[in-house]
Amino acid sequence: MYTDYDVSCKECDVFDGLEMCDNCGYAVCGHPACVSSFPHYKNSVWSVCNSCKEIVLKKFKPYYEKKIEASPETEAVMALLLLSN
Ligand SMILES: [Zn+2]
Ligand SMILES: [Zn+2]
Repeated sequence: MYTDYDVSCKECDVFDGLEMCDNCGYAVCGHPACVSSFPHYKNSVWSVCNSCKEIVLKKFKPYYEKKIEASPETEAVMALLLLSN
């Protein structure tokens, strides 16, 4: 749930914060560059800001199904996760 007073996205500080990061609770605008979505339990979706993405990736390795932005960095993280399984 987001607040109804004016808050701007904590990542870009340009757009309004329309969503909330499920990890840190700050407002994010929902742009793919600022927030990433992860499949979560029971078909729900976890939205996390860019700053939390790395942390969350490490926690949620089995649930990482859909490809978000396939950056080399992300793929490197994924490869490590798969190796450690
Ligand atoms: Zn933003
Ligand atoms: Zn966050």
